[in-house]
Amino acid sequence: MKPAAGLTLGLAALCLVGLLGVNRPAGLGDVVDVRHWSYADYTRVVIELTRPASSEVKHLPANRGAGRPERLFVDLPEIWVGRRYASTIPVGDGLLRGVRLGQNTLRKTRVVLDLDRYARHQLLVLRAPHRVVIDVYASRPPLGSGGDPLDPRLPLEVRGVHTVVLDPGHGGRDPGAIGSGGLREKRVTLDLARRLKPRLEEKGFRVVLTRDRDRALSLEERTAIAAGSGGDVFVSIHANAARRRSARGIETYYLDTSNERQSLRVAARENGVTPGQFDLLDKTLVRLRLEENSAYSALLAQLVQQSTVSGARRRHRGVDNLGVKKGPFYVLFLSSMPSVLLEVGFLTNRDEARRLRNPRYLDDLADGIAQAVSLYRERVDTRVARSEP
Ligand SMILES: [Zn+2]
Repeated sequence: MKPAAGLTLGLAALCLVGLLGVNRPAGLGDVVDVRHWSYADYTRVVIELTRPASSEVKHLPANRGAGRPERLFVDLPEIWVGRRYASTIPVGDGLLRGVRLGQNTLRKTRVVLDLDRYARHQLLVLRAPHRVVIDVYASRPPLGSGGDPLDPRLPLEVRGVHTVVLDPGHGGRDPGAIGSGGLREKRVTLDLARRLKPRLEEKGFRVVLTRDRDRALSLEERTAIAAGSGGDVFVSIHANAARRRSARGIETYYLDTSNERQSLRVAARENGVTPGQFDLLDKTLVRLRLEENSAYSALLAQLVQQSTVSGARRRHRGVDNLGVKKGPFYVLFLSSMPSVLLEVGFLTNRDEARRLRNPRYLDDLADGIAQAVSLYRERVDTRVARSEP
């Protein structure tokens, strides 16, 4: 349909009004919120929007003459911010000085990050709700001074495994999968995490839960809690769903850009997007993240899978081992430590839903997962010992 001439004229008039700072063009999205989190070697900035805005990050060197620091900027087309963030949002964590947002053109918001230190960045666009996530990394402080073995900035080989972050999937207004008899995934994941915590503590781990009650939590909040707690291992707990009621079994995922159809379907569900919306992960960035933690995540996934299945089989027959798989899970991508996502069974399968309501079965699963994390610590410690002179 061709736009009527009157409408075009009307829009032009509206733009003119906008240029004078009086009004905004129709049809633009808004900035809902700007949040940030600071860690030892990176700062995360999240901009929540009412509509998607694809974008790229551009880097500007410092301009001493103009008194401007090194900067990153991101343009958000079709987003209106007006003068809402006219003054800088101060961060001041030694890495990021602050965040500024302004109306760059009538139909474009510009986000500027003023930097104190900078090595690289990554950008991720998330949906439901729409968010632009910018992680800014600074170079790590030099190693070699001996240092505290718990220092989260040390590489894993030196640091060992002390803190386990358990991430019970979903929560609050997000029930996750709803299964046979109305069993909700968010309840199963929290129940299991609560049983797992004391078992890990008994083995000498420090345990952090991303949520310990029924509340909604965004993926970046979950991973921010994990990074902020100095976690060494991240275990996201979920329960599966499938249209085919006979689908059953336990499977463990670690991050990859896998295009396997079944993995994509599970990842889409856990990411809160449809499989069609899946071109959002920047493959180069995923590769970068994979290089950092992939070997450890793969080892962890292997151990978690084997040991959870063994636990489940202790008192039950017919537990299918679906094995270790790779998938593009946002929660794993956003995590900065070796991370896995465990699917403890299909809520849509009547037998498995019945089991997942059974406290003894959950205890068996918890025993299995705790055993896996303990084995993982042993394996990492062995590597640490070998790397010592
Ligand atoms: Zn889930």
